[in-house]
Amino acid sequence: MPDAFADHLNDTPPAGNTLAAYTTLRLGGPAGTLTTAVHADEAIAVVRAASAAGRPVLVLAGGSNVVIGDAGFPGEVLLLRTRGIRVVGEDPAAVVVRAAAGETWDDFVAYAVTNGLSGVECLSGIPGSAGATPIQNVGAYGQEVAHTIVAVHAYDRIAGEVREMSPAECGFGYRASVFKHNDRYLVLDVDFRLEKSGESAPIKYAELARSLGAEAGDRVPLALARDTVLKLRAGKGMVLDPEDRDTWSVGSFFTNPVVTEEVFAALGEMPHWPAGDGMVKLPAAWLIERAGFPKGFAGEGVAISGKHTLALTNRGAGSTAALLDLARVIRDGVRERFGVELHPEPVLINCAI
Ligand SMILES: Cc1cc2nc3c(=O)[nH]c(=O)nc-3n(C[C@H](O)[C@H](O)[C@H](O)COP(=O)(O)OP(=O)(O)OC[C@H]3O[C@@H](n4cnc5c(N)ncnc54)[C@H](O)[C@@H]3O)c2cc1C
Repeated sequence: MPDAFADHLNDTPPAGNTLAAYTTLRLGGPAGTLTTAVHADEAIAVVRAASAAGRPVLVLAGGSNVVIGDAGFPGEVLLLRTRGIRVVGEDPAAVVVRAAAGETWDDFVAYAVTNGLSGVECLSGIPGSAGATPIQNVGAYGQEVAHTIVAVHAYDRIAGEVREMSPAECGFGYRASVFKHNDRYLVLDVDFRLEKSGESAPIKYAELARSLGAEAGDRVPLALARDTVLKLRAGKGMVLDPEDRDTWSVGSFFTNPVVTEEVFAALGEMPHWPAGDGMVKLPAAWLIERAGFPKGFAGEGVAISGKHTLALTNRGAGSTAALLDLARVIRDGVRERFGVELHPEPVLINCAI
């Protein structure tokens, strides 16, 4: 990627231990201690030492899915900067590619596309690290990493050893897994099974299909899928750009709420998707707008992005307190108007809404 900030995991961090320097929101107070690990062994040693000393640990990679309180994090912050992409398995149809946890996710996607490997192309442009993708089962434009992950290698703080976890053990769900809101595991490497094909996985997402001039279910050249996704994302402020404050966010602040069919029936006409097991998924952005919070709706130095209703952004003078105040106003407004509860998608560290 030509955009330097898209590769921000490689940036030399500024001096000091203010966590705002390591988050895409540019918010968060100081770390108790801050240690950078470039090898898996170093990362394990930091976590082991903290466990032995009874100190809390925060693993931070790209900082693109965390909201850290203004008081910071009083324990050990481990900055994960491990690197490496290599093929570890192959059959006639596919290869298994292992990415080190600290590898920049979009570099991994670019590697797959360049090498004719299909399965993650629609996840182009998502900030952060490869190792964080299983944490919330990262997804966009009809793909999620649960479709391609075949193993996660993680240090288990309780067992005190490195384990290879199967997809079933990872417990993937919608923006969820056993790893989220759980500091038991330090993800070290992730194995993806990618199809040997110059064509994308069948396109599922209607907006993407429209932009490609394709039908749902069609396959298109990998590079075309990647470029089209990057363009769509950039138009919504969903590709990091240091000059564009609409991208100083954690991406979507709220997940799309999932309600029972009974609750949905009582809500009246609105866009929705089946979520299985008698549940219905509702578009959080639609609910937020209809509850009276348009793009650009502002708080103290923070605002809803001018390009995407789900992104809460720091305009440069914001604080975590102000961001969470804005989130509360929106959540309460949606609850009052629709009786539907919105839940934050990022991990909240030393703060709450
Ligand atoms: C502009 C923008 C667009 C986005 N678009 C999307 C999108 O389309 N889809 C989507 O799903 N997400 C999206 N996100 C959210 C975010 O990019 C992803 O969740 C990403 O995977 C987070 O990676 P990270 O390295 O920045 O994680 P961090 O923010 O550093 O960490 C997130 C959480 O994972 C934990 N963690 C991180 N690495 C490890 C590890 N190796 N082992 C154990 N725990 C770990 C952290 O402790 C923390 O709890 C977007 C964010 C932004 C800013």
